[in-house]
Order: sequence, then structure tokens, then C-alpha cells
Amino acid sequence: GADISARNIDTLSTHFPLCMQNLHRTLRRDAHLKHFGRLQYTLFLKGIGLNLEECLIFWRSAFHKITDDTFNKEYRYNVRHTYGDVGGDANRRGGGYSPYSCQKILMEHPPGPGEAHGCPYRHFSLENLTALLQGVGITDRSVLHGVKEDKESQKFHMACNRVFEHIHKNEIKKAKDEGVMTSAQLETIVHPNEYFKRSYLLRN
Ligand code: SF4
Repeated sequence: GADISARNIDTLSTHFPLCMQNLHRTLRRDAHLKHFGRLQYTLFLKGIGLNLEECLIFWRSAFHKITDDTFNKEYRYNVRHTYGDVGGDANRRGGGYSPYSCQKILMEHPPGPGEAHGCPYRHFSLENLTALLQGVGITDRSVLHGVKEDKESQKFHMACNRVFEHIHKNEIKKAKDEGVMTSAQLETIVHPNEYFKRSYLLRN
């Protein structure tokens, strides 16, 4: 089975949608993420199956410029709260918060300056979006052009699905040929965790 652990997140991040790759890259560059970025990313990591203990290890080692004391005071509680380990009865009974859907990420809390959360297809300028896509290895001109058109017509998750299909085109073709892909698995992805799950299953 999958080894979903703190030390594997760099490797697993090749299966992440662009929103989460952007958070991951920003975290590795700055050794920090602001509040909504931490929340969006923590919930996604919870959704891929990273348990609370590993999630705390992940954040603690990622924030390597701060002391244990600062980490424990300012960040530990929020991660535990997200997992339902602390907080009110309802939060604990419910196991914390649910990972965010694309809809929520697209519509709520648009990122301000210095913030890395949100959906790059929506919240980045075309120039920055193109640079990010190229940075993660998407250089195919027709794909980049398609993304531009999707963005202009505000079909942001269509852009995301376009990129998914491009990245996985060989595996998708093989799975279709072998008849191991059901029509449900070919539906448009509308959740970052579904993106991960599908990508992971196609590659493993
Ligand atoms: Fe993330 Fe959804 Fe945007 Fe794709 S469409 S980058 S999964 S928020």
C-alpha cells in the first residue's frame, strides 16, 4: 500500500493538483505558509491519508527556521484542531474539518499579497500561471493555449482537468484500452483529493 508519511510528501507531491503543488513549493521555498495556506494544505494532506502525528512531523520539519517553542505555541494547536484532536465537542466528534473542494477553494478567501492558497487557474495572472505550469514541467504549447482559453472563459477546473489528462495521457490510454477505467473515473475532477487519488491510482 501507499506510504503516506511526512518524509514522503515531496515524492507524493508529483500527484498533487496545481493548487497544492503551489502550496508545497512555496512552503519549501519560504519554510513558511500563511494561515489560509496552512489550512488548505493541512486539510488536503489529511484527505490523502496523512495522519495527525505525521502531519505534525511534516509541519514541524517544514517550518525549520523557527524554534520548537514557537511551533508548539503558534502552529501545533491549529493542526490538531483541523484533525478534530482538540476543540469543541462537535469538532472532535466530527473528526475536524473536511478537505476543501475546488468550489470552495475557487470561491472563498481569495489570496492576498504573499499568500499561496486558492486555485492558480483562477487566482494567478496568466503570466504567473504559465510560469508555474512550466515550472512543474508543462511545456506543451497546445495545453498551455487550452489553459489560457479555459481561464479566459472562467472554466478553471476544466483547465485543471486538461492538465491532468495531459500529464496522465499514456496511463489513461492504457487503462481505457484494458477496460480497467470506468466512466465514473473519467468524470471531471472537482476536488483536489480526487485529483490526487486518480493520479496515484494511475501511476501505481
Ligand atoms: Fe486545485 Fe481544483 Fe484549482 Fe485544480 S481546479 S488547481 S484541484 S482548486
